[in-house]
Amino acid sequence: MQGRTLQQIQSALRAGELTLKEIVQYYLQRIEQTRDLNIYVETWGVKAVERAESLQSKINNHTEDFPRLLGAVISIKDVICYKNHKVTAASKILSGFTSQFTATAVQKALDEGAIIIGRTNCDEFAMGSTNEHSAYGPTRHGSHPDHVPGGSSGAAAVSVQMDTCLIALGSDTGGSVRQPAAYCGVYGLKPTYGRISRYGLIAYGSSFDQIGILAKSAADISLTLAVVQGYDAMDSTSSDRSLYQHQLNPPSTTHLRIAYLEEVMNHPGLGQGIRESTRSVMDSLRLQGHHVEAVSFDLLDYLVPTYYVLTTAEASSNLSRYDGIRYGNRTDLATDIDTLYTKTRSEGFGLEAKRRIMMGTFVLSVGYFDAYFTKAQQVRRLIIDKVDQILSSYDVIVTPTTTTVAPELGASVQDPVAMYLSDVFTVIANLCGLPALSMPLAVEGTDLTSGIQFMSSAFRENILFDLQGYVAASGVNP
Ligand code: GLN
Repeated sequence: MQGRTLQQIQSALRAGELTLKEIVQYYLQRIEQTRDLNIYVETWGVKAVERAESLQSKINNHTEDFPRLLGAVISIKDVICYKNHKVTAASKILSGFTSQFTATAVQKALDEGAIIIGRTNCDEFAMGSTNEHSAYGPTRHGSHPDHVPGGSSGAAAVSVQMDTCLIALGSDTGGSVRQPAAYCGVYGLKPTYGRISRYGLIAYGSSFDQIGILAKSAADISLTLAVVQGYDAMDSTSSDRSLYQHQLNPPSTTHLRIAYLEEVMNHPGLGQGIRESTRSVMDSLRLQGHHVEAVSFDLLDYLVPTYYVLTTAEASSNLSRYDGIRYGNRTDLATDIDTLYTKTRSEGFGLEAKRRIMMGTFVLSVGYFDAYFTKAQQVRRLIIDKVDQILSSYDVIVTPTTTTVAPELGASVQDPVAMYLSDVFTVIANLCGLPALSMPLAVEGTDLTSGIQFMSSAFRENILFDLQGYVAASGVNP
């Protein structure tokens, strides 16, 4: 399976060189071989093999009309619901909880022949950038086990990196798909807000959350996006606007207008190797006929504060439902209704989730609402307007995905503010609801990786995929 795209897997299935059961067994063996990385919190091997056999008997002799995701073995992040399977958001507060329904994105993938192999570790309630804030302990980086894989969909990225599945579904509220994809040397897409239904995705910051897709090839992400996208009556923010069409061979759209942000390239936190690699991609894109130009973006310093004021506010509200009565875990130590709530929540949430709930409650509190929450909403509007203005003259904005390569395990835990600041290049897409694709970027001076990230106007994911060939041609993919 190693190195094959879905299209190649499907050709092998058609030619009878491979069966679905063999595919599943290959991945299950990879899962066993990589146990010490702590990628999966649960695998569904027996059911996956059964499903492979039943799908195989349906397709034998009908190789012409394969469902679109036949042969795709998918991992799902532990914040995505799959009926009758456990889901916990990597939190003690949901331990033992079983999904009551299936997320629309998962259902759409299943309807097109995908096989779900297990649920992946992540930061608790998708809050974090290192996958260290999990009730299951940290996940390790695949090729550098002393480093973090990034977060919060860290294990989703490693599940793809280490060939334990073909495609991973994660969630991206402020970079959680793109940043671990960059650290682990794979592709990661955060689609336009509304492109994929959020029904069945455990909520963190609802005006930011999107299900995202990780894979080793942009083509596999493109195919998956075409399947799981679309309007869903269960999510009123989902949309059918300019539905995404998967193209086998993306056209060579020459002369794209590409903007880079001066302030990003001069950012003091940006590692020298990543800066240089990003410059070489831009030089190569120029040589390939595109217009690559600097634009000024004077709001860069406001991105992270705006993101953290608004997402913690939304999180504190979303997480208020975990009260020990309706969901998951309940304390044994309650003496009355008040201690039932407080003890359940004190025992159930980890440190980072508690920090976010407290920050969010603070910025929403009567005395501070206007100073923080209202102000942050106003700044979000300024950011959206500024980015819209840039994207009215350019097709895409290019930035590195991360400021550094994957830090060592434990390095970020003591300093949450430093961890928050590292999200500076990814949160912009979520603040604006725009799609962004991170492609692997080799970094000079290290064998760890970052990503090169392209962001376009809403519902123009096609242009992000068109860029993939040009980026590969620039020779920067690790
Ligand atoms: N690191 C960011 C945060 O902790 C992004 C998380 C995400 O995208 N889920 O909020």
